[in-house]
Amino acid sequence: MVQSFNLQGVIYAFRVLTRPRLVVPHSVVKDIRDINYQKLKEGGIQTIAFDKDNCLTAPYDNQLHPPFKDSWNECKKVFGTNIVIVSNSAGTSDDHQYNKAKAIEENLGVKVLRREEKKPGGGEALLKYCKTTDPSTIAFVGDRLLTDVLFGNLNGMFTIFTKQIVTEKGDNPIALKLRRMEHKVLEWLLMRGVKPPSHPLINLKNE
Ligand SMILES: [Mg+2]
Repeated sequence: MVQSFNLQGVIYAFRVLTRPRLVVPHSVVKDIRDINYQKLKEGGIQTIAFDKDNCLTAPYDNQLHPPFKDSWNECKKVFGTNIVIVSNSAGTSDDHQYNKAKAIEENLGVKVLRREEKKPGGGEALLKYCKTTDPSTIAFVGDRLLTDVLFGNLNGMFTIFTKQIVTEKGDNPIALKLRRMEHKVLEWLLMRGVKPPSHPLINLKNE
């Protein structure tokens, strides 16, 4: 189990090193309040998928970050039931009896995807859930490059990176260090003109 996890990690690291654009998002926003949901929908996005921790909620919290309420309501108005949360802490084997997933579904009013593999793996589970063979119609929103953006880009989705996190309080120290490093890496890649993978809806950038 541990060996296979490490092997997966090595494979993903190799893919990123040989193709760094896999961690470059199609759109960078401050937080979800800057996402123009209507524009995404009109551009052809049919489903919007979100990471949870530090994207919608504080780390390991099951409540929406209160300042995001209006944006979340707008998202629900535009995408209706085509919203899904893909979290590495809820809905996976770490989530005993899916208790966290159930609490989040209750509080946020959208489905939490149940699946075996954690991001950046497990893209098939999301495609299956969305009942689509065209991943470019899915937008993936998250605060981490090596899980969320990599996950979306590996699977041909439109990726949106939320730069400003909810809080560092309660987050684990490794995640904190990795996120800071990721921000520097992204800055470096963008400075060198590295573009995200091609996507038919690339004009959907917020800016
Ligand atoms: Mg997160």
